Amino acid sequence: MSGDYEKICYICRRTEDKTGTQITMPGGISICSDCMQKTFDMLDANGLANIDMGAFGFNPEGQSNVSESVENQDIAEKEDGGEKQDKKDISRLGNISFVNLADLQGQIPRRQKLKKKKKNSEPVIDITKIPAPHKIKASLDEYVIGQEHAKKVMSVAVYNHYKRISLGDDPDVLIGKSNMLMIGPTGCGKTYLVQTLAKLLDVPLAIADATSLTEAGYIGDDIESVVSKLLAAADNDVDKAETGIIFIDEIDKIAKKKNANSRDVSGESVQQGLLKLLEGSEVEVPVGANSKNAMVPLATVNTKNILFICGGAFPDIDNIIKERLNKQSSIGFMADLKDKYDNEENILKYVTIDDLKNYGMIPEFLGRLPILFTLEGLTKEMLVKVLEEPKNALIKQYKKLLKMDEVELLFDEGSLEAIASKALEKKTGARALRAIIEEFMLDIMYEIPKDDNIGRVTITREYVENTGGPVIEMRGVPVIDEKAE
Ligand code: ADP
Repeated sequence: MSGDYEKICYICRRTEDKTGTQITMPGGISICSDCMQKTFDMLDANGLANIDMGAFGFNPEGQSNVSESVENQDIAEKEDGGEKQDKKDISRLGNISFVNLADLQGQIPRRQKLKKKKKNSEPVIDITKIPAPHKIKASLDEYVIGQEHAKKVMSVAVYNHYKRISLGDDPDVLIGKSNMLMIGPTGCGKTYLVQTLAKLLDVPLAIADATSLTEAGYIGDDIESVVSKLLAAADNDVDKAETGIIFIDEIDKIAKKKNANSRDVSGESVQQGLLKLLEGSEVEVPVGANSKNAMVPLATVNTKNILFICGGAFPDIDNIIKERLNKQSSIGFMADLKDKYDNEENILKYVTIDDLKNYGMIPEFLGRLPILFTLEGLTKEMLVKVLEEPKNALIKQYKKLLKMDEVELLFDEGSLEAIASKALEKKTGARALRAIIEEFMLDIMYEIPKDDNIGRVTITREYVENTGGPVIEMRGVPVIDEKAE
């Protein structure tokens, strides 16, 4: 059983792989040799070492008069198969008892239980169980509206990623990592795609915000905290975490600052810091907390097989793209109109690595995110679909809520369009939908339960636009409506 635990020094909290062999004291407390030495140095400095030990029954020949209780404990532990040699050495130090360590036994979190890595373990991901790309995409289709290209790219990338893991360290052909960079306006489904993907694949997912990351040592989360979040999402199971997904949102916020005179601790240096994580390296992360300190045990996580997905809206990058495209198209024989791309709707899809470099992302960083794709902003038609089509669509959720009051909730065509138009105005994509519905549904959800006779409520365009009311029907009036469910 003891193989399942790591020894942690009771004083400095470091694990045995950091400190070297630790000495186990009676009562099962482990202390590393550094801390032991410091304790003796401190005693020395305080003059305690000059106390006449003989007065306490200390035997100058080094033969300890170890008290019986300690010796008994020692024997008990020997039977446990503990490290008897270490304990003997300690007990020989004399019979000075500064603290009765055994008394502390119950109160001390001596060892952190870690789900240790399996040695020579079989691959965690079984490639036969990873669905083929078209199946992954089909499942994504059930939740995410539009974004066909993004769903396709992601399905293939994820499939290849887990294939790569299942191959292990094949010396012939080393398959590169499929880390991704997705660019799309806010509220178009970037986070939602990643969440859905992780749920479908049943792998742990950590979502981090690049804005909160700073170079280690500065106020903010240090870069490795993203791995510690993933470990928490995997219930501290290191093996599971090592095949999980880390999504870093708002990645555009760590673009290199132009004309920065001060040290760029939250921009370029964060990109630099992320390099080794993206590439794959062993990082020590605190277990159960997001900052390292002496009180938290550490675990080593290898990021080699963690899939990193970065996302960002990259506001104003369209100007950089337009400028490049216009320049290209107005030169030479094939010259086109100088402002050909000025009115292009979905300019983002022309983005290149060079545009991102111009934006302030460093080449090394971009090089580690080989899969680059864009998502489109949601149109009114897409927003209407977001309202009613996904498996857990908003409209379905409200219908279900009212059904519990035995009231049928209907939305007529116009109402959905009106909600979508209102959402478009807010320019926050699908995020705005919920707030808009919540606003007009409040009265309905408050009033309806008052009256048992109400059987059906139909939300109309006028009600959404605040120019009229909903249609309320009493029970027992038969109306045929194929959208009832
Ligand atoms: P962002 O692109 O800013 O990360 P999110 O993915 O967080 O946006 O989207 C916010 C919410 O809007 C999601 O929780 C989801 O319910 C909804 N949503 C956004 N885009 C779509 C989409 N294409 N299909 C279905 N729902 C979407």
